[in-house]
Amino acid sequence: MNTNINLREYNSFGFSVTAKYFVEINDINALKQLIQTPEFIKEPHLILSGGNNILFTSDFFDGIVIHINNKGIHIIHEDEDDVIVRAQAGEDWPSFVKQMVSQGLYGVENLAHIPGKVGAAPVQNIGAYGMELKDSFLQCGAINIETGQAMIFTKEACRFGYRESIFKQELKGKYIITHVDFQLSKQGVLKLEYGNIKTYLAEHGMEQPTLQQLHDAICAIRDAKLPDVKQIGNAGSFFKNPVIRIEQLNDLQQRYPDIPHYPDEDGMVKVPAGWLIEKAGWKGWRDEHVGVYEKQALVLVHYGGGKGHDIVELAKKIQQSVAEKFGIQIQAEVNWID
Ligand SMILES: Cc1cc2nc3c(=O)[nH]c(=O)nc-3n(C[C@H](O)[C@H](O)[C@H](O)COP(=O)(O)OP(=O)(O)OC[C@H]3O[C@@H](n4cnc5c(N)ncnc54)[C@H](O)[C@@H]3O)c2cc1C
Repeated sequence: MNTNINLREYNSFGFSVTAKYFVEINDINALKQLIQTPEFIKEPHLILSGGNNILFTSDFFDGIVIHINNKGIHIIHEDEDDVIVRAQAGEDWPSFVKQMVSQGLYGVENLAHIPGKVGAAPVQNIGAYGMELKDSFLQCGAINIETGQAMIFTKEACRFGYRESIFKQELKGKYIITHVDFQLSKQGVLKLEYGNIKTYLAEHGMEQPTLQQLHDAICAIRDAKLPDVKQIGNAGSFFKNPVIRIEQLNDLQQRYPDIPHYPDEDGMVKVPAGWLIEKAGWKGWRDEHVGVYEKQALVLVHYGGGKGHDIVELAKKIQQSVAEKFGIQIQAEVNWID
């Protein structure tokens, strides 16, 4: 176990944070051994994969950071139509998607280029361009952090929702996901309806794209829209899109007839948080160290030299101003680590 490790390279905001203890897990037996050590029993712990969805709110993590890095991707079942693929938690998510697409397997292509590791993907049921992890998720393996017992979580047991799962709620920090099994198809219908996929494809003369072309288009669209974490620290969408009652939408439409909205479950509607933040005047705002990305108001950015606390303060101001203007409380999607 290493001590006093700087986590700047392990969080996509690029904040300089010191971990009291840091341990990298390359295989599950090492994890089982770690769980029995006196330090592990005594100290608080943080499960850290790629660090693309966390915000360290202070400069010191007073406990053990467990960095999950076990590798391996293999087919565990195949028939005429489907393939079940097992990916270990420490595999890089974008590389996994790329590999599946290059093998002609459908089911994860719209989730291309989302930074992070496979084991973190179920935690917030990652989603993009009309697809969510749960659509191809079969089950995952996980280790109970207190007992060391291995468990299988089915799709139902994971209780997936919009950027949610049981691992972000009741079981937060209690299980380490060790592998994920995906059910992928040898044939599929491409989802082109979302975002500006169709426009991009038309501009590039690919109205009827192949699986590979769709994957590459999504990568290009994302590159043009989102800041590169290697250059500007960020954690993607900082807030979730709020879900509101239709009556509240009707009231808001009196003042803002152009408010975008999408149907959600039980007659509720989802409103893009980025639009609310932009309308509240925050798009492109910046001070010395942090700001709101000029191309997408949903992304809070760290320009360097700042601290997690600066993002916390900015996020609170944005939440307050959106609440005052629209009467809507927007919630963080990013995990805050105190
Ligand atoms: C530029 C950018 C774009 C993004 N775009 C999207 C997007 O389109 N859609 C989307 O859904 N997300 C998006 N994100 C968020 C992020 O990519 C995902 O949440 C991703 O799954 C995080 O993976 P990670 O390995 O970095 O997880 P981490 O940030 O390391 O961890 C995230 C959470 O999961 C927990 N965790 C991590 N690994 C495990 C494990 N093995 N077992 C149990 N718990 C674990 C952690 O404790 C933490 O609470 C984006 C982020 C960035 C920086």
